[in-house]
Amino acid sequence: MTAPSPRGPRPSATLRGVLALALALPVTAAASLTTAGATPVPQRPAPRDQGPVGHTLPKTGTMTGSGGAVASVDPVASQVGIDVLKRGGNAADAAVATAAALGVVEPYANGIGGGGYFVYYDARTKRVSTIDGRETAPAGMTGTSFLEGGKPMDFTKAVNSGLSVGVPGTVATWQAALQDYGTRSFSQMLAPAEEIARRGFVVDDAFETATADNAKRFAQFPATASLFLPGGKPVEAGTVLRNPDLAATYAELRRRGPSALYRGGIAQDIAKVVNTPVTVPGVMVPSGTMTTADLGRYQVKRLAPIHSTYEGHDYYGMAGSSSGGIAVAETLNLLEEDAERTGVALHDVDDVQYYHRFAEATATAFADRNRWVGDVPGVPRQQLVSQGFARERACGFDPAKAQQRPIAFGNPDGAYGGCGTALGKAGQSNDGQATTHLTVADKWGNVASYTLTIEQFGGSGMVVPGRGFLLNNELTDFNFRPMTEGVPDPNLPAPGKRPRSSMSPSIVLKGGRPFMAAGAAGGATIITTTAQTIVEVIDRDKTAMGALGARRISSRNTAATAEPQLINSATGAALKALGQPMTPAETIGRGTAIRVLGRNLFDAGAEPTRGGGGSAMVVHQGKHSKHSKPSKPSKPSKPRHR
Ligand code: GLU
Repeated sequence: MTAPSPRGPRPSATLRGVLALALALPVTAAASLTTAGATPVPQRPAPRDQGPVGHTLPKTGTMTGSGGAVASVDPVASQVGIDVLKRGGNAADAAVATAAALGVVEPYANGIGGGGYFVYYDARTKRVSTIDGRETAPAGMTGTSFLEGGKPMDFTKAVNSGLSVGVPGTVATWQAALQDYGTRSFSQMLAPAEEIARRGFVVDDAFETATADNAKRFAQFPATASLFLPGGKPVEAGTVLRNPDLAATYAELRRRGPSALYRGGIAQDIAKVVNTPVTVPGVMVPSGTMTTADLGRYQVKRLAPIHSTYEGHDYYGMAGSSSGGIAVAETLNLLEEDAERTGVALHDVDDVQYYHRFAEATATAFADRNRWVGDVPGVPRQQLVSQGFARERACGFDPAKAQQRPIAFGNPDGAYGGCGTALGKAGQSNDGQATTHLTVADKWGNVASYTLTIEQFGGSGMVVPGRGFLLNNELTDFNFRPMTEGVPDPNLPAPGKRPRSSMSPSIVLKGGRPFMAAGAAGGATIITTTAQTIVEVIDRDKTAMGALGARRISSRNTAATAEPQLINSATGAALKALGQPMTPAETIGRGTAIRVLGRNLFDAGAEPTRGGGGSAMVVHQGKHSKHSKPSKPSKPSKPRHR
């Protein structure tokens, strides 16, 4: 018998089976969402009395074991991924199935009306590659689309509108991921999600709160209100939320294929509501210009990842329209340079110096990201993540005091020496606080790190009538006008352009093999959360959940936040004394991560508490299995000395 291939055989397109509608588990026994390896479109709707899916699944932020691992914000979605792995699917298959399920159970943070970034380590080729599935501005967008009378449009007005909606990239991302790396069909991987949408899921406290927080704007759009504000009130925790329109949309996608979102009835409905938002009487919101031609021409971009090294590890992240990979890589380079300059490894410093160094590094990386990164030609990516640039930029770091904010941006011109000359100052950009990140690893060694979003919680606030999904407001990630007068801004709106993102799905290798994968939700804090998660594992010997649960600081040059547990501690007081700017933020970021402990042995981690916590799962629980070979825990390397 030959060893199973990481990719495995493609199932026959003619395979027929009844989706695990046979899944008629009573609510109390619904411990698994078995997809039965079956395929296509159910011939008839599931009986109503099947009850909601996954009601009693445990929600745990950490699990160690073999056979594969999935970490997401939601146990129902993580279980979908685990079931795919159990039945022989690989990490790409499971990531797509998990994401499709998240579109149902976390509809305010992601879904087929949005976009995202997919980073993948392929065990067969031993290479990391990426898919940029970012939303794209329609052809009708111009540099002044978000100006009114020459001034930036009110941000809230821009969010709740057709104008903010970019052409969604999520469905095309799933198609590309399955095509490039998967072993299962698109239809199969959407089956569990369709089932959840039809049978419903039990609303939790976080969902109720998010609905209540958005109730006013949701009430402006009848299609949104009828789904999330039944009887005019936010859906309540403990009730079952069914979304038959979304189930039908998933069914149509499964029947017609991914192009169904970009051509035909669904595309027409998207373009229609963007151009003529359907609001309650008396409410007017700006309309957009998206056409079915804009939808029809949407394509993902397959891009080489950002790559840099950090303390004996290889970091891989997103390039293209996301600034995430560059900013995380620059942060890591700066930390490495700081260790070099001071002669003390990050591993060996106390908490105060750890957070101080980290804040100085992220603030500097943000100054550079804001000035140089966007969806424009000629972004100096290689230079921004070069060690030479970091050496020049770390020159002003002082263990005894924080740099004056805002830090001027650097000049990534390839000619580095001394302290270089910092250039003008760049301000801060608009970012929301939503999004979701999922991480998957399989027994063959493939790893997927996938962040997706509809921008704000609830996106544009507009559900496509009759289709059951929210449209994004991603185009508000453009700067409405140049951030700094007289300084070129790479993130201004333009036709066909992708707004700059902070999403940072990341994969770290050591000795050429997967070491860990991580990413986060949380607007611009995604970058700092992801970088901190990686550093907590590499330099502070944390487990995946331990790294995710650490107290956070997010210093983003002009904006600087920290969690109250940090600010109000002795460490916080010492950071203040160093001049480290920190505004309290109740929680910062929300991530997931997987550490690969050995061949087929995983430490899956999710957020322990923030946002109600996340869900980490493995196929076979337990520290060791006959299939796994634990490796020694990684020791941080000493800083290099020149
Ligand atoms: N739109 C944000 C970005 O792409 C993510 C949304 C959020 O997390 O607020 O960076």
